[in-house]
Amino acid sequence: MVAEGGVDADTLGRATWTFLHTLAATHPEKPSETEKARITRFMKDFSEVYPCAPCAESFRDIMKRNPVEAHSGSAFSRWMCVAHNEVNRELGKDVFDCAKVADKWGICESCAAHEEELSD
Ligand code: FAD
Repeated sequence: MVAEGGVDADTLGRATWTFLHTLAATHPEKPSETEKARITRFMKDFSEVYPCAPCAESFRDIMKRNPVEAHSGSAFSRWMCVAHNEVNRELGKDVFDCAKVADKWGICESCAAHEEELSD
C-alpha cells in the first residue's frame, strides 16, 4: 500500500525558509547570553534534524564555513540570508540581496496579535 501525504523538498524548503527568516526577524537586537546560546543551539540542532537528509548534510557544511552570528537581531537576519544564499548558490539559483532582507521578512503580525489576546 502506498502511503499518502508528505511533501516534496521544494515545498518543505519554502515553508522552512519562511519559518527561519521569521525566526531571525524575531531575534532581539540586544539578546541576552541565554538568548544567543539558545538560538545558536537551535540552529545546530535544526541542521541535525531537518527532514531532508542531503539538505541537512549540506547545510551543516554551510554552517561550518559560516558559523551562526546571533549577537544581534540584524546580524542573525543577515546570517540567515547569507546561509540561504549559500544554498541558493549550490542549487544554481539567483542570490538574494541581503540589504533587502528586512523588506521581505519580518515578524508574524497576526501571531503578535494572538500573543496579546493570550496575555489579556
Ligand atoms: P526558496 O529558496 O525556498 O526561498 C523562498 C523565498 O525566500 C524566495 O521566494 C525569496 O523571496 C526568498 N529568498 C531567497 N533567497 C533568500 C535569501 N538568501 N535571504 C532571504 N530571503 C530569500 N533543496 C534541494 O534541492 N537541495 C538541498 O540541498 C537543499 N537544502 C536546503 C537546506 C535548507 C536548510 C532549507 C531550508 C532548504 C533546502 N532546500 C534544498 C530547499 C531549497 O532551499 C528551496 O527552498 C527550494 O528549492 C524552493 O526554492 P524557491 O525558489 O521556491 O525559493
